[in-house]
Amino acid sequence: MASQEIETLTSALSRLPGLGPRSARRAVLWLIKRRESSLVQLLDALAAVRETLVECQTCGNVDTSDPCAICADPRRDQRSLCVVEDVADLWALDRARLFTGRYHVLGGRLSALDGVRPEDLTIGRLIDRVAQGGIDEVVLAMNATLEGQTTAHYIAERLEAYPVRLTQLAHGLPVGGELDYLDEGTLAQALRARRPVG
Ligand SMILES: [Zn+2]
Repeated sequence: MASQEIETLTSALSRLPGLGPRSARRAVLWLIKRRESSLVQLLDALAAVRETLVECQTCGNVDTSDPCAICADPRRDQRSLCVVEDVADLWALDRARLFTGRYHVLGGRLSALDGVRPEDLTIGRLIDRVAQGGIDEVVLAMNATLEGQTTAHYIAERLEAYPVRLTQLAHGLPVGGELDYLDEGTLAQALRARRPVG
């Protein structure tokens, strides 16, 4: 019979993506056995994340400053905006080092099944950014899933009224593929060969 503390920690860890109750319990035991080397290190890292990381109010990235380093970087192309579902996708694309513009994180994807509506995402904020002008191209870099593509269509419709070039990542992305699982070469290729929407 595990203590209440261990149960609480196990249940918190088991809610992490990719971890079920069984792996969470193993992780907890592993940490307890390595109290000084690993548990303390993990605590410090978690505390640092809690204290220093903020959400960029412009693009939705997570960074130590608001606006984030990408939004604040004057060398980045202000006229090009890449829309992604999650921060992990932004990081994946930025690792590929091919896109020199700025980003917009939606905070998820439209989903009838999960009850995610347009107002649950930062679509309104995206429209505002485009409406302010100064943006020539919007790259819709949604995942190649049904929900990702539904989201891309919806945004394309909402942006139709604005004088921007709408593009999307090239085919060749595996269907059902999530961006942050792709290797950088594949991602760079999809971005380089991006095509107009519609
Ligand atoms: Zn930002």
